[in-house]
Amino acid sequence: MADYQAVVIGAGNGGLAASLTLAKAGIKTLLLERHNIPGGCATSFIRGRFEFEVALHQLSGVGTEEFPGPLRNSFNDMGISNDIELIQMENLYRAVSPGRFDVTLKADRAESIKVLKEHFPHESGNIDRFFDLVWDYCNQWIHVLFMRDPEASPAKYPLYFKYVLRPMQSVLDEYLNDVELQTIIGMYWSYLGIPPEKLPFGEFAVVLWAYSEFKPWHIKGGSQALSNTILNSFLEHGGEVKFNCGVKRIKTENGRVTAIVTDHGDDITTERVISNAGTYTTYVELLDEEVVPESRFKELGARSVGVSAVSLFIGFDAEPDELGIRETTNFVTTGKDNNQVWEDCKTLNPPTSMLFTCYDVDDPDFSPKGACQGALISLAYSDPWLKIPPTQYFEEKYKFAEKMLSVLYQVFPDCRNHIEEIEVGTPLTHMRYLGHPGGAIYGFDQWTKDSELFLEKRSPIKGLYHAGAWIGSGGFQPTLMSGASAAKAVIRSLK
Ligand SMILES: Cc1cc2nc3c(=O)[nH]c(=O)nc-3n(C[C@H](O)[C@H](O)[C@H](O)COP(=O)(O)OP(=O)(O)OC[C@H]3O[C@@H](n4cnc5c(N)ncnc54)[C@H](O)[C@@H]3O)c2cc1C
Repeated sequence: MADYQAVVIGAGNGGLAASLTLAKAGIKTLLLERHNIPGGCATSFIRGRFEFEVALHQLSGVGTEEFPGPLRNSFNDMGISNDIELIQMENLYRAVSPGRFDVTLKADRAESIKVLKEHFPHESGNIDRFFDLVWDYCNQWIHVLFMRDPEASPAKYPLYFKYVLRPMQSVLDEYLNDVELQTIIGMYWSYLGIPPEKLPFGEFAVVLWAYSEFKPWHIKGGSQALSNTILNSFLEHGGEVKFNCGVKRIKTENGRVTAIVTDHGDDITTERVISNAGTYTTYVELLDEEVVPESRFKELGARSVGVSAVSLFIGFDAEPDELGIRETTNFVTTGKDNNQVWEDCKTLNPPTSMLFTCYDVDDPDFSPKGACQGALISLAYSDPWLKIPPTQYFEEKYKFAEKMLSVLYQVFPDCRNHIEEIEVGTPLTHMRYLGHPGGAIYGFDQWTKDSELFLEKRSPIKGLYHAGAWIGSGGFQPTLMSGASAAKAVIRSLK
């Protein structure tokens, strides 16, 4: 008899959701995490009097109690809805480029349209047509992909089939003439890590639609509170966890999982493993090379490791309104060309486009009284950071941080004199804490050819399942839901 019915590798969103779902179903489960806290990206850390949020800027898919989204339903299924406090954000985002535009979109379709028409009256009809397209497309997408209409066809769902894989930029060009309007409406491309010329329109449309319909949310206590809640519930349901305990090998016999070996050299027998360690790590590092079919290596080799980030975690000794910060989510840009912005992510060139989130605007208790915290994020690939000699790393990272701050000060000049604490994370920081190649925060790049539509999620190894960003999309909602879904597959296999 195996030691555990299931072992979960990694306590990121995917691993946590999988573990709790298994334990709730009465499956004897062990969760192993190489770090000393749960969450993966979904964590926090403390500097001075601030507890800094590492990852969560906007939680998608929640919806209201009256109009619940898929993630709220998933929280209900996991039985944790009463143990977390969700905070709704009023606005989608403020898009600001000094001297060019400054527009705040509400988390509401009609309000966003109204604001955009006020700023771009010459595009009034086009704005209506574009929003109609996004909403009509998403309606068809729900039928094809969620409800799995067996009769789905281009004749029945023309918008879905026409636009799902079209580059986002070509659709923006088809519907909108004003380049600044395109930039403002297209800001969410950065949540997907691929620039509009290369990003499939379908992916972008769903993000814009979902944040407007289900609203952006945050969690009281930050994403660490969510991770802790899921872990505590897992333990209450009889699950077992070991921290500071990485897995270094998955053992197989005749193409079936038989055991895992920990970094400490312990053999733990099990016939079912859910790996939240990412497919690249799982197939290349944890499984013996000869048991992995060549086709799986070819498939992994054809994909590219996705984007990471440089993050500035800033504690200010002032309230948001004293600093002129009125919105939680701010896209700040001095760059005019999204392709160049993305090309710059592969270099140490001064970044021109970034996300600045101040959690205290919608949750005044997020930081101590008289203070607030901001996260300033610029997308970045790991390559140029890996080439920096270790002796120059700190100098380079602080130089880079200064460049990011100089962009922030153009919009929020008062921030300059109120920084009490600051910590800088780079792609190398994410590599170290997550163990993922390139410190990728959304898994692989989501090129059109790598769209979820074409992805084989099932493992060629019997008893091995995957959860997390590397088997679909990155982000909280997809990874949490992928964990629950991997666990359900394990439960089905046990029945
Ligand atoms: C700065 C930043 C901002 C973000 N902003 C947002 C946002 O606003 N909204 C949003 O939806 N998403 C956001 N994301 C993305 C989101 O956080 C991630 O896509 C998601 O959390 C990834 O979850 P995951 O399940 O793939 O696991 P990960 O978070 O990647 O965690 C994997 C876990 O596995 C562990 N592990 C790895 N190898 C082993 C091993 N061999 N043995 C044991 N354990 C192992 C790691 O230590 C880690 O804990 C952001 C991410 C970052 C970093």
